[in-house]
Amino acid sequence: MIFDTHMHCDFSTDSSMTLEEAIAAAEKENVGMIVTEHWDYDYPTNPSEFIFDLNAYYDKMSKFRSDRVLIGIEIGMQVHTLELDKNVAASQKFDYVLGSIHCAKRKDLYEEYCYEGLTRQEAVRAFLEDSIYCISNQKDYDAFAHIDYLTRYWIYKGEYLYYADAPELFDELFKVLIADNKAIEINTRRLDDQKAIDALVVLYKRFQELGGKYCTLGSDAHYAEHVGRRMDVALAIAKECGLTPVYFKNRQMQIVEV
Ligand SMILES: [Zn+2]
Ligand SMILES: [Zn+2]
Repeated sequence: MIFDTHMHCDFSTDSSMTLEEAIAAAEKENVGMIVTEHWDYDYPTNPSEFIFDLNAYYDKMSKFRSDRVLIGIEIGMQVHTLELDKNVAASQKFDYVLGSIHCAKRKDLYEEYCYEGLTRQEAVRAFLEDSIYCISNQKDYDAFAHIDYLTRYWIYKGEYLYYADAPELFDELFKVLIADNKAIEINTRRLDDQKAIDALVVLYKRFQELGGKYCTLGSDAHYAEHVGRRMDVALAIAKECGLTPVYFKNRQMQIVEV
């Protein structure tokens, strides 16, 4: 079964769907699902926005957990929060820990003003430098989320995440992921844009060329109608790039049977 490994429900303050709605949507799409609520220590615009009661979350999820409904968490890592991030990953018996970078140099990549005064290449480098530092120093996660996260919000409209903007840093990031046997997420949010796909394919192919083997597929849904969105496009990209789609259960990698 295909698994949508990235979505947000009741415990993510920016989500508009309940767990029950997400489960119904995944059943309708005939996909398995992993809920990955947001956890971000010291979020720059509001330090407690993405902090919640981990025990309450785990208890609620446990009531619904099954072979096709699994319990994850998306941990937004920052250079200065890594010790705390490790504790969160180990705090519950999660099925899946998704490692994310939502901030670089203590600035929120969601906010347009964080790109002011930076060239596109400088913004990409800042994102990659912090990503490399975080995954080199906090390894308790299973997959690296949305490598193109900043392109959703940045000010360089009509531009994409180009390998040529920082080849040595992309390579370094991929080599750390590969050495630690981590998967890379194919996030489907921007897969309605062929130019975004073209730029991402270059990156995923480079990941594979350096020895990367595994990818996860994730919609990053915050609305029920987005659960399972564009999994077919993501599967085609995985195939084109020679990556094996996986999901995680009890923190163990499972190969997706399609
Ligand atoms: Zn995220
Ligand atoms: Zn997310």
